[in-house]
Amino acid sequence: MKQQELGEITESPLTFRQYFTNIWDAIITTYKGMKITLKYVYGVKPVTVQYPEEREELPLNSRSRLFNDVENCIACMQCATACPVDCIYISAVKRDKDAPKVKTSSGSPVRLDLTMYTIDEALCCYCGLCTTVCPTECLTHTRDYEFSQYVLDGMKYDYLSPEIRAWRTRLIKK
Ligand code: SF4
Ligand code: SF4
Repeated sequence: MKQQELGEITESPLTFRQYFTNIWDAIITTYKGMKITLKYVYGVKPVTVQYPEEREELPLNSRSRLFNDVENCIACMQCATACPVDCIYISAVKRDKDAPKVKTSSGSPVRLDLTMYTIDEALCCYCGLCTTVCPTECLTHTRDYEFSQYVLDGMKYDYLSPEIRAWRTRLIKK
């Protein structure tokens, strides 16, 4: 019985020409690869930085850690309503009618006193919807990206607490 009838695979030996073509292809391929590698080793300024010794500033429109400047918050709830993951917790009480009149920096009257303004940034997807709808622009994304925590609860920010109020100077000027 012939070999083809048995279904055996037979390989024809490399021709002399094919042998040298393969060697040439290997040399060219290696040359092209090494040219790119060497360009980055010797010719191109590295794009990496030695973090944390070097810190890059994020672009102005970055959506990083949220900050609510609560003095300008009118407790309108629009941010919490817009939030797709419901991670903004707000409660407020009506200001006493005899309490001194308070206005935000843009002149809006403050009729409610916040009793809670907390964002769970472990749930936040940094979509920016809350900052977009905020009528007084007190809720903003900062450019701060160094806020990792060991426990999830550490990502819950109570913006009425003095510790977080202390961020203001550092974050707002960024
Ligand atoms: S940025 Fe975060 S907190 Fe704001 S709406 Fe999006 S998910 Fe909610
Ligand atoms: S939308 Fe702005 S003003 Fe209204 S509750 Fe949220 S942070 Fe405060």
